[in-house]
Amino acid sequence: MRKEILITCVLLCGCTAASSSHQTGTAILGYNGISEAGIYHLVTNDSGSLVYFYDREADMDVPLCNRPNCEHNDPSCNAAALTTYDDKRLSTPPMYVGNCLYLCYENTSTLENVLCTAKQDGSDRKEYMKLPNDILVSAIIEDDLLYMTFNGMERDENGMITGTGNEYKNYIASLSDKKINEIKSDPTTALYYLGSVEDTVYAQAVSALVDGSYRTDLVTVEEDGVKNKAEGVPSLSHLIGKYAYWDNDGMIMQYDVTTGEQTEYWRPMEDTYKVRSIANDGLMTMSCPIGEEDHAVYYADLLKKEMIETTERPVAVYDGEVLTAQEDGKLHKRK
Ligand SMILES: [Zn+2]
Repeated sequence: MRKEILITCVLLCGCTAASSSHQTGTAILGYNGISEAGIYHLVTNDSGSLVYFYDREADMDVPLCNRPNCEHNDPSCNAAALTTYDDKRLSTPPMYVGNCLYLCYENTSTLENVLCTAKQDGSDRKEYMKLPNDILVSAIIEDDLLYMTFNGMERDENGMITGTGNEYKNYIASLSDKKINEIKSDPTTALYYLGSVEDTVYAQAVSALVDGSYRTDLVTVEEDGVKNKAEGVPSLSHLIGKYAYWDNDGMIMQYDVTTGEQTEYWRPMEDTYKVRSIANDGLMTMSCPIGEEDHAVYYADLLKKEMIETTERPVAVYDGEVLTAQEDGKLHKRK
């Protein structure tokens, strides 16, 4: 009984942080929302898209819906209703910071973007602030600040969108007073947020060059502008602690973003392989060619330096455990 009361309180109290400037935590747009109690993620099936919550204690993944007797199969289900807002859709999982869910809704035709908040149980969803009308490329919440990069669209004199401008604009919004400030940055450079170290936000700056190629630099993003930290770095993964990782001919390199020091970290496989992605929980996805056209996919826990053996699809490393997904997209601990 006592436990039930506690859980209810954890899920229902809270989300007061949005109105104070003391919330702490980091969340990157596009990644699953991680709380101490579990993981917020999106599951898409035949009846549409639903917000799910993987409960760490119970090792159970359920729709984020508290409607009594809900079958979670129609649009009135709370978990389904959370994936739309007016004419806008939620295409990225809820971000979790300071006991609060932040949900970013977009309309891909009008390019209107709205940030909503909700309590941890998905209830009390409210419009929190309007965001600039353009294509949101990357965003990160770091404590009270929301950093955003937009791809600015060309518009005619009536405001109708006439094409992709590839003119990037970067903003920092204060979540406590909802003010949005554009920061000084090069419009030909897109910023992809990597994470934060000691309250400083790091991003990979990707600039298109005249010959059609790209260059990537490591930058910090601050209210007074974007500052170069290292020029011509390889394509970096999201930050895990203060380290970024990348593949250098089969050797995973570890790169300390604060000092620029590089070290050889781990060679996970002797075969020829390619790193496809490294997530900020250390889940690394690799592929090996088989014959001319096919390839096999492998997974590793980068922080443990271990290959992950499983017949299901690993989705996250959470609390020291590998979580895998069944075919229906639900998470559970690796069997
Ligand atoms: Zn439901």
